[in-house]
Amino acid sequence: MTESPAARTTVPARSFESLAVHAGQAFDPTTGAVIPPVHFSTTYAQAGIGGLHNGYEYGRSGNPTRTALERQLAAIEGGLHAFSFSSGLAAEDALLRAVLQPGDEVLLGSDVYGGTYRLLARVLGPWGVGVRVVDMSDLDAVAASLAERPARILWVETPSNPLLKITDIVGLARLGHEAGALVVVDNTFASPALQQPLSLGADVVVHSATKYLGGHSDVVGGALVVDDDALAEKVKFLQFAVGAVSGPLDAFLTTRGIKTLAVRMQRHSENAGAVAEFLSRHERVAHVYYPGLPDHPGHEIAARQMSGFGGIVSLALADGPAARRFAESTRMFQLAESLGGVESLVNYPDEMTHASVRGTELAVPVEVVRLSVGIEAIDDLLADLDGALALL
Ligand SMILES: *Cc1c(COP(=O)(O)O)cnc(C)c1O
Repeated sequence: MTESPAARTTVPARSFESLAVHAGQAFDPTTGAVIPPVHFSTTYAQAGIGGLHNGYEYGRSGNPTRTALERQLAAIEGGLHAFSFSSGLAAEDALLRAVLQPGDEVLLGSDVYGGTYRLLARVLGPWGVGVRVVDMSDLDAVAASLAERPARILWVETPSNPLLKITDIVGLARLGHEAGALVVVDNTFASPALQQPLSLGADVVVHSATKYLGGHSDVVGGALVVDDDALAEKVKFLQFAVGAVSGPLDAFLTTRGIKTLAVRMQRHSENAGAVAEFLSRHERVAHVYYPGLPDHPGHEIAARQMSGFGGIVSLALADGPAARRFAESTRMFQLAESLGGVESLVNYPDEMTHASVRGTELAVPVEVVRLSVGIEAIDDLLADLDGALALL
């Protein structure tokens, strides 16, 4: 079991930036190597039967490189226990199985990651788990839904994907706890550099580490961070018993990414803010979704609970064909799924990331395009967007 982040930090780090660099990253005591070695061994020699070295027995149950990442994750989210998985969805699956029983229902935000909805509706649904959907940014709607029928879990993404809706985490946590529900925040979009949901009252933080934590589009991973000891024990058991753990090289790449998270998120936010302003002044753009814009309905809440507005900007064009054409016309913004890497990406949700929720309550409007704004020079990014808009 992971100890408290303070106990794991070998330097007196307090601030986010320092924890991201140092937590779990003590130098190797044998050689003094400043970067802890990557451990590939699948098994560990025992000093007599049952004589384990620091608890390590077999690669699925524990690996020092994974431990280093888990300590770093707990520290940067300000949580007591962190668990690293082979993907964001593997992390979600472990959490849902740890908490839910047949007959339970999950109340899901209306534009959460399509794969989360698919996991609940199509994998856990046949095992007797129910899912219903509500606009989580509307706390009255959440309260009304909870008054109608209980939910075991409230699951929110804020900012949401791809419409960048903002939910007041403090308010949602209060509502959820009054109703006896576990409050889960998927913090993939903001990352802990900009928002720390546990400190705002959430019970669990979920990550697709594939996105900003890894940050370079070269590793798939996921994570859970929780404070509650009993829940952590259940998650740890499932991580071991089901086995969707991150491999050593994946864990190392994620750790390396996290060390630069603070500076990357600052630059992503600056660039995205400039892109959002540019787009909102452009005549061909019908609407810009970005919580940093003063007219965004969640702007004030975002300004309160985030320390930057993040790197994702969505825009609406005149219609579906215009949106498709735009997404296929940018050059520096590469047309690809995913987000959160140093390079800029463009995505047409209706046919790409959100194709699995087409025709459901979670469907994304056909005129919407999502941008993952990278850390390139802002002038190059604006010139690229301007060029693609000129072709419409
Ligand atoms: C990508 C993503 C996931 C799923 O993570 P994988 O690493 O692809 O399994 C979950 N939530 C959000 C918000 C995501 O963007």
